[in-house]
Amino acid sequence: MVPNKGQPKDKDNKLEIMRHSAAHVMAEAVQSVFPDAKFGIGPAIENGFYYDFDLPRSLTPEDLPVIETKMAEIIASNLPFSREVVAKEEARRLFAAQPYKLELIDEIPDAEVNLYRQGSFVDLCRGPHVNSTGEIGAFKLVSIAGAYWRGDEHQPMLQRIYGVAFDTRGALAEHLEKLEEAARRDHRKLGRELDLFSIHEEAGPGLVHWHPRGAVVRRIIEDFWKDEHIKRGYDIVYTPHIAKLDLWKTSGHWEFYRDYLYSPMEVEGQEYIIKPMNCLGHILIYKTKQRSYRELPLRYAELGTVYRYERSGVLHGLSRVRGFTQDDAHIFCRFDQLEDEIAGVLDLARFMVDTFGFSNYQVFLSTRPDKYAGSLEAWEEATQTLGNALKRSKIDYDIDPGEGVFYGPKIDIKFEGWQGPTIQVDFNLPQRFDVTYIGDDGKEYSVVMVHRTVLGSMERFLASLIEHYGGAFPVWLAPLQVTVIPVADRHLDYANKLETELRNESVRVEVDARSETVNRKIRQAQLDKVPYMLVVGDREVAASTVSIRLRSGEQLASQSFDSFKETLRTAIINRTKELKE
Ligand SMILES: [Zn+2]
Ligand SMILES: [Zn+2]
Repeated sequence: MVPNKGQPKDKDNKLEIMRHSAAHVMAEAVQSVFPDAKFGIGPAIENGFYYDFDLPRSLTPEDLPVIETKMAEIIASNLPFSREVVAKEEARRLFAAQPYKLELIDEIPDAEVNLYRQGSFVDLCRGPHVNSTGEIGAFKLVSIAGAYWRGDEHQPMLQRIYGVAFDTRGALAEHLEKLEEAARRDHRKLGRELDLFSIHEEAGPGLVHWHPRGAVVRRIIEDFWKDEHIKRGYDIVYTPHIAKLDLWKTSGHWEFYRDYLYSPMEVEGQEYIIKPMNCLGHILIYKTKQRSYRELPLRYAELGTVYRYERSGVLHGLSRVRGFTQDDAHIFCRFDQLEDEIAGVLDLARFMVDTFGFSNYQVFLSTRPDKYAGSLEAWEEATQTLGNALKRSKIDYDIDPGEGVFYGPKIDIKFEGWQGPTIQVDFNLPQRFDVTYIGDDGKEYSVVMVHRTVLGSMERFLASLIEHYGGAFPVWLAPLQVTVIPVADRHLDYANKLETELRNESVRVEVDARSETVNRKIRQAQLDKVPYMLVVGDREVAASTVSIRLRSGEQLASQSFDSFKETLRTAIINRTKELKE
């Protein structure tokens, strides 16, 4: 998502050609294993390549090493890639048993088509490729996935093999290690292991069920979010989940975003839809009174749950869903207040980002596209104002020319693995809904409306956060903050007493009273990524102390229970990211 800057273009190009050539080699290897294979397409992608096949049986992970070995043989033979230009008729004859290739040939406007041959394999391709298979670097086949022909769910489902390829073995090893780390941190895997959330086929894809432990993390973040917004002069509001379709016609959503909206439902002869965004409810609240310039800015914030249609093929854990809760807010202000308001949002965004320990971001200011709402003058002024606010906040940014939405310029703050905050000026909705205020001259003016989100949606943010922390949440967010582990049954009373005292201070604590060994209980707490384990035996009971273990395995010196409580309180209040005692 973040543009890959600083990489020399021609190096990228060379790698891309090599990766695409590796796709041809993989296709040849697959053909030797499955002589009846039908071939789709095989492009280079970031870090590697893929090829889509129609095969007589489903691939299993065990097939990949077999195909890899065959590929290694083809590469070792150093076969040249040779280009041939043939008449379409000739190509049709050559690919008579390849229905997908025939489809592609039919779409080529020219009378002749390009073929590339290496060894026994010939493919329909424009090139370019490496000179010979020996020039292909270090590669590995990494996964198998289903993919519709041409990405269209009405077309046959093909089997896609993904590979990665690099210049050197070292670069490949480094990348594979990154992939492994990403798999360890995958929020879908950790969500299951840590019992955070689930998605059910019975309820429908893309609809998230938050389990008690996941709900704790979400609630802590939501409480923090609300408190912080109130401190910064926002008002918290709530708006309904459904609204009359006419409202969405007035806004233009029905016209422009219909593909993402669910079908209307009928209530007392009126059509309603489930809301895809919260903006209109906030506008209706604003418009319940004639507003004066003195009242502005008004900042309405809502953790608003919305529903948007996404194709089932693109849904992905918490990060791509059909129902989600936006951390949404709309600022209604005068134009002369816009710069301060944007600077305020940037400051809030920075505070949130720092709190959760995200770094390495890139900021983009997207400017006017070809089709736009509002006047040219308003666009220029607003774009300038956003730029001024960024400069004032000492934030470096890049201009993304023409990438603004049609209704106004915007600022995006993007992180690796997290979409990040966005701030969007809107000239369209205030016009469509006639959202105004009375100026100091008694005249009516159109209000400036800003949509902004800091965390994005709770779902997507949690996906990023789980992966960011590898499931080991800092103590203020941890679903379970303390596990008390009695050494023997006779220490249970003391353990229960500690639990009660901690619970009275709103600490999330449990006693592990199972008849298991201490080591197994410690192991379990580590798997659950509980920040603190308090092991209590004879010595601790006698001295009113606790023996502390961290989830890293580190053991701390025994300390009095009171001093542990103080340590814990400080870590929670300071939202300590690392457990440094
Ligand atoms: Zn090719
Ligand atoms: Zn909005």
